[in-house]
Parts: sequence; structure tokens; C-alpha cells
Amino acid sequence: MSLKRHFIDLYADTKSKPTDGMRQAIATAVVGDEQKDEDPTVLELCNRMAKLFGKEAAVLVPSGTMANQIALQVHCRPAEEVICDKTAHVVNFEGGGPASTAGVMTRLIEGKDGIFTADQLFEVLDRPESRYAPKPRLVWVEQTSNLGGGTVWPLETIQEVAAVARKHGLKLHMDGARLLNAVVASGVPAHEYAMPFDSVWVDFTKGLGCPMGAILTGSEEFIKEAWRVKQRMGGGMRQAGFIAAAALYALDHNVERLADDHANAKLLAIGLAKIPGVEVLWKDMATNIVLFDVAQTGFTAQEVVVAAKEEGVGLGAFGRTLMRAVTYINIPREDIISALEIVKVVLQQRPPKLTAEKAQTP
Ligand SMILES: *Cc1c(COP(=O)(O)O)cnc(C)c1O
Repeated sequence: MSLKRHFIDLYADTKSKPTDGMRQAIATAVVGDEQKDEDPTVLELCNRMAKLFGKEAAVLVPSGTMANQIALQVHCRPAEEVICDKTAHVVNFEGGGPASTAGVMTRLIEGKDGIFTADQLFEVLDRPESRYAPKPRLVWVEQTSNLGGGTVWPLETIQEVAAVARKHGLKLHMDGARLLNAVVASGVPAHEYAMPFDSVWVDFTKGLGCPMGAILTGSEEFIKEAWRVKQRMGGGMRQAGFIAAAALYALDHNVERLADDHANAKLLAIGLAKIPGVEVLWKDMATNIVLFDVAQTGFTAQEVVVAAKEEGVGLGAFGRTLMRAVTYINIPREDIISALEIVKVVLQQRPPKLTAEKAQTP
């Protein structure tokens, strides 16, 4: 029996697709030449985001990865040190960007669920200044932490970390790909989270459901330099109002509803935890990401990905037995319930490596 209806892709919130309303907003956008500051829709979005994050200025970039890479290049000179959690997207999923685009050293902290403490930061910074050590320059916070399981950095932790960073004369950057998830989950306004940081960006292609685009914010001076780097990297665009129109639409329609994604993720976490052998790594401050471990089922994560895909559910493998599922705008509650049934059936099958034929091969 197949439980398959339509494909339910929980691999990532990047799989989100524009709704009809967003497509309408894109189609009717007023546009101009973005590189010349002549696109009114882009300018409107930049103004709105700068205000939302309490910063002087903003710039539109095609992707979150480019926002991170620009920030590295503006804040740091080659051989300087960026301090971040070991799970950070910038060190795990950006093609080695810190080394190639900015020539920086990354110093990794072993935080908990992607979140490190002021004490841990202090420990890293507490070394005598000498000609032998690289110069620390930038402290990096990922809100929410992706590989940490969608966890929200508490405002207090951010403020404590920022105080240590400032005391050591360091800059602060927030990779806020899912910052608005943190805002909706915690009720803390975006500008409060953003306040201690020299640069903060948000991704419109995750839970906000846009086809592309991220907004990087900071001081006038930072954004002026960011523009130069963006131009150099080939990120200058032309009629980018089509991108900005989708983002403006998302700000009006898709922010509050992130709470639904969080509720769906929790439902998914509770359901997965009931499947024998599945260990759900659910955190109190989790949002729309569910990490779970299938070691006790006898399956590897990759085997579950393949088997679930066959039955109509997309999941991610993030280690030998570590898996990830993410909720977003196009995944209604019914899909979560169907996905749970499907994953349960898949995991009740015998793991392929335990079948007789496989057991005989070395
Ligand atoms: C997705 C993501 C990025 C990169 O954004 P893209 O728009 O996919 O380039 C960076 N940081 C975090 C935490 C992310 O989740």
C-alpha cells in the first residue's frame, strides 16, 4: 500500500514557492535600474528593512550566502579571525567562502545547539597579544541556528556575548537568515536582536517564501562598502524590483504566519518521537526545524531519505544517522500528519542492511 498523495518536501524551507498573491505582486512591480539606485521597489524594501532592524541603511543581495561573504570582506582583512559556532552555515555550507573571498581564519566555538556563551567567547579571546597569533576581528551569531536545530539565541545571551566582543574591540555580525522566525517565536522585536550588531541580514527565500533575495543592513558607511563588494562579486542587479516586490509582499503577509510553521514543527517532533527507535533532538527554543536521530532504527539517515522519498516525503540527511525536517508556508498541517504516517511505515520496514542478501556481502 502506498500512502502517497503529493510530494511533501520537508528537506528545507528553501523549497517554499511563491503563493498566488506573491506572484501577483511580482508581476505588477514597478521597477528600475537597481545598480543606479533607480528601482523604487528595491529602495522601498531597503528603507523598510533598515527601519525594521534599527539600522541606517540596507542593500538587496541575490542570496544569503552573498550577504555573509560581503560582510566578511567589509569587516575583515585577510588573515584576521572570525569567531563563530562550529555549526555555522558560513563554515559548513558556503563552499569555503571565508577562506576564498575574505582570506580569513575561522575560530570555532563548540556551543550548545549552535549557541555559545559569553564565557566561551572570553575563553577564546583570553590569550596574550603577540606577533604569533592571528588578530581576532569579528564575532558571528547565527539567529536562528540552522544546524543547531532552528534554535533561538536568547536576547540576554546575545547581549552578554556582544559585551565581551566590544570589550575586545571586535565587530559583530548576525547571520539572520531566519531572524524573523526568532522574532515570531520569542516576541522580541527584530531591532532589539539586531542592536548589538554592526551588520544583520535576513533571507527572504526561507520561511518567508520568496523566490530569491536577502537584505543586508548596517550603518551608512558599512552599506557603502558592502555595495562596492557586492558590485565586485557580480551581485549588482538591474530590474530587481521583481525580487523586492516579493519580499515586500512577504513582510505584509508571511511573517506572522511563521507561528504556524513553528506549531507544525512541534507537531512533527512529537509525532516522530513516538516512532520506535527515533530520537528527536527538540529544543525548547526551536522554531521550524526538527533534527532527529534514527540510529536505533537500524537505518542510516541516507537510507531513510531514499525510502521516504519513494513514498512521497523529502527529508535531509545531516550525518550518518542524523536527519532534518523543516516546515514552511506550503506545508499545511495535513501534510505533517501524512508525512508522519509515511515515515512511520518506512521505519517499520526492515533496514536494508539487515536483510538476508545484504548480510552475506562483506
Ligand atoms: C540558508 C542560509 C544561508 C544562506 O542563504 P542562501 O540564500 O541560501 O544563500 C546562510 N545562513 C543560514 C543560517 C542559512 O540557513
